[in-house]
Amino acid sequence: MTVLVTGGCGYIGSHLVWALADRGEKVVVLDDLSTGFDWAIPPEAELVRGDIGDRALLDTLLETRGVDAIVHFAGSIIVPESVADPLKYYGNNTVKSRELIAAAVRHGVKAFVFSSTAAVYGEPEIVPAPEDARLDPVSPYGSSKLMTEIMLRDVARAHDFRYTALRYFNVAGADPKGRTGQSTKGATHLIKVACEAYLGLRPQIQIFGDDFDTPDGTGVRDYIHVADLADAHVLALDRLRGGAPSLVANCGYGRGFSVLEVLRSVERVTGAALPVLRGPRRAGDPASLVARVDRIHAELDWRPKWDDLDTIVGHALAWEKALITRNRV
Ligand code: UDP
Repeated sequence: MTVLVTGGCGYIGSHLVWALADRGEKVVVLDDLSTGFDWAIPPEAELVRGDIGDRALLDTLLETRGVDAIVHFAGSIIVPESVADPLKYYGNNTVKSRELIAAAVRHGVKAFVFSSTAAVYGEPEIVPAPEDARLDPVSPYGSSKLMTEIMLRDVARAHDFRYTALRYFNVAGADPKGRTGQSTKGATHLIKVACEAYLGLRPQIQIFGDDFDTPDGTGVRDYIHVADLADAHVLALDRLRGGAPSLVANCGYGRGFSVLEVLRSVERVTGAALPVLRGPRRAGDPASLVARVDRIHAELDWRPKWDDLDTIVGHALAWEKALITRNRV
C-alpha cells in the first residue's frame, strides 16, 4: 500500500508526508517543484518530479508503485493571481485535477483526499459556516476548487471511488519538530508576514481594513495549526481505506481571531512591538470566516493538539528563523 501525494513538497503537503513517514507508510510524492522544495520531505519518501496533468506519468506511477490512495494538494493558491489569470487556475486546479481523478478511476484507486478551501463559501451568510452553506466563491481560485469538488462528487456516484474533500480555513504554524514549514517566498499570509516583520525581513505589517463589522473592526479568521491539519488528512485516509463513504468537511478549530489579536499574539511570543500600519481593505476579503466543525469531529474523530494561537505563532516564528539560516547556507 502506497500513498501518492501530489504537491507533497509544498507547505501543507510536506507536513502530511512527514506524518505518513512517521507512521511507516510508503509514500510517492509527485511535485513539479514550481513552488515546493525537494528538501521539505523525508528521505524515505520517493520524489517524482513531474506534472499531475501528465497522463503517461500518472499511468506509470499508478501501475508500478502499488498506490491504493491519493492525497491531492498540487495546485495554484494565490487568490489575487487567480483574478488576474483565471485560465491558469482552471487549468492547474480544475483540468489537471480531472486528469488525476481519471487516472485514479482507470487504475482502481478507490480512496482520494482532496485539499479544498473555505474560499468555496465566498462571503459566508452564516458564521461559523456549515458545510451545507451556500457555495458562492468570489474568486476563480475558489471556483476552480469547487469545480473539483463537483467532479469528485459525480465520479464517486458513477464509479467505485470514494473521496474526502477537506475545506481548509487559515492554515498556519509549522512542524513542531522543525522539519518543514511555510517556505514560499513572497507569502502573503498574516502570521508569516508578521513573523517576517518582526525579523526585519519587511519594514512593517499593514492591517488590511479596520472598519469591518467585527468586534474590533479587523478581519476574523479561523487559524488552524498545519500539524493538526496533516493529522486530519491521515484520519481521512484511514477512514476511506476502511470503506467509509465520501465526505466533505470543514477543517478549522471553530473559533476566530481578529488581525489585531493575531498581531498581539506575535508581540507576546516575540516580546517586541511590531511595526504596524493601518491600511485599506484588501479586495475580496470577507469580514469573518470561521468553520463549523461538528462534522469533522464526528466523522474523523479528530482531536486537535495545537489549538492555541501563541503556539501556532511560536512554531511559525521558529520556522522563519530556521529559514533565514537555511537561506544563508
Ligand atoms: N491581513 C492583514 N495584513 C496582511 C495579511 C493579511 O491585515 O499583511 C489580514 C487579511 O485581511 C485577513 C487576515 O489577515 O483578514 C488573514 O489573511 P491571510 O492572507 O492570512 O488569509 P486569507 O484569510 O486571506 O486566506
